[in-house]
Amino acid sequence: MNSGKVILVGAGPGDAGLLTLRGAEAIGAAEVVVYDRLVSDEILDMLPRGAERIFVGKQSGNHAVPQDEINKILLKNALDGKLIVRLKGGDPFLFGRGGEELELLQQNGIAFEVVPGVTSAFAAPAYAGIPVTHRDFCSSVHVITGHARAGGELSIDFPALVKADGTLVFLMGVATMGEITGGLIAAGMAADMPAAIIENGTRPNQRVTLGTVSGIYALARDRGVKSPALLVVGRVCSLGERFDWFGNLPLKGRRIAVTRPRDRAGTLTNRLRALGAEVIAYPCIETEHIERNVPAETALRDIARYKWLALTSPSGVSSLCELLGGLNADARLLAPVKIAAVGSATSDALAEIGLRADFVPEKYSAAALARGLTERVPPAGRVLIFRAEEGAGDLTEILTDAKILYDDIAVYRTKYISEKSAAMAAALRGNELDLVCFTSASTVRGFAESLAAEGVSEKEFSQLTAACIGSATEAAARGRGFKTITAKNASIDELINVILEGK
Ligand code: SAH
Repeated sequence: MNSGKVILVGAGPGDAGLLTLRGAEAIGAAEVVVYDRLVSDEILDMLPRGAERIFVGKQSGNHAVPQDEINKILLKNALDGKLIVRLKGGDPFLFGRGGEELELLQQNGIAFEVVPGVTSAFAAPAYAGIPVTHRDFCSSVHVITGHARAGGELSIDFPALVKADGTLVFLMGVATMGEITGGLIAAGMAADMPAAIIENGTRPNQRVTLGTVSGIYALARDRGVKSPALLVVGRVCSLGERFDWFGNLPLKGRRIAVTRPRDRAGTLTNRLRALGAEVIAYPCIETEHIERNVPAETALRDIARYKWLALTSPSGVSSLCELLGGLNADARLLAPVKIAAVGSATSDALAEIGLRADFVPEKYSAAALARGLTERVPPAGRVLIFRAEEGAGDLTEILTDAKILYDDIAVYRTKYISEKSAAMAAALRGNELDLVCFTSASTVRGFAESLAAEGVSEKEFSQLTAACIGSATEAAARGRGFKTITAKNASIDELINVILEGK
């Protein structure tokens, strides 16, 4: 029998950066992912597109899939020969029922592995500026479940906890918080012992409530504290205010949509998240290499006819690689030409394949690229342009005006997609977005058209600010009715700068 394998993976508390390398590797290879409610959207965005997703958590109104049902799902898929990742919030063995899920697998001889995760019990306090131990305050930390047993009784030995005098971290304690704090005080804890509640720890919407063991329950009710949340009790909580690094990040509380294609969104998304923003990934375009591209292949075979090769995006560089591979050639084929790149992302993509751009304009735009070429191409020299279908007109117009010969060849095309358009339309209408980032005119078009399919009219964009990478993108965004802020130069660094300035 060719049975599969189950990898029990701790997804960490929410921030995708806290997923382990081993966890990410397992997720990348998964054929089936079985996950529950505590796994954050950021992590779900990392699942391979082809992987089957099985949600087994509680959804509002519905009950969670019972434990023995989950065990059977894992077993069945393993018997079908699949590689299954069982993804759980935090660490899978810390109040995660990880052990229970392995029993049936072990009994049936199914191979399994366990990848520990960063637990919310320590990570949420860390993101709230609370070190769970500190030599001046305590010498132990205790992690306790606040979940009441079937009869409604908490089985917590309060006197023992108070006597230990360490930091106490209660998970699953939102519903029982009054009993927990009351129990601690009844067992002799000082009423002014510092305490903290951390909701959505490590996530962009993390909220911290600081108080004392006697006052925090009332504060929690006033503020409508909701799960996932944990309660920390101990003197270390008094440090929370001073060490609140996460709450003080410059883009904290801002919700920003990133519209780049999935495979190129990483840098921008990660940098915005590191600055504290909540990033909503909304890929609305995808680039597709054009196969069996006779004009492009002919141009490459005849490369000595050209003096310059111009590339206007990293996608153009990827297509160039594909084309060279298809000809059974490599970068040496390009020896006769000089190479011009529109900006730093394109020249970086070239550098990755060992090619150095001979010219990158100071201001990154197709027009600046064209003007630079007019100064550099020798008389009667020909330029080969590899770019998108429907590339902007200004590049070729400027060359034409300067009487420079060129071949403008499409090597990839833009596809407009809208997998998450319903959710984005709802976010837009609920005024839940502060900003949308556009890194090309095609992303503006993708955004507008995908939402038009949801009945969103361009009038509804007038309240939304678009952060644009350059002037062509800005013009496209204005054309669709957005307010705009624009990077001083077309690079991710400058786009981030203008977002920080425009706060
Ligand atoms: N295995 C998980 C814990 C599962 S029990 C871990 O190691 O983190 C579920 C409880 O964990 C929730 O009720 C809540 O108390 C806590 N929790 C999980 N993620 C959290 C988060 N991001 N912020 C605050 N509490 C969280």
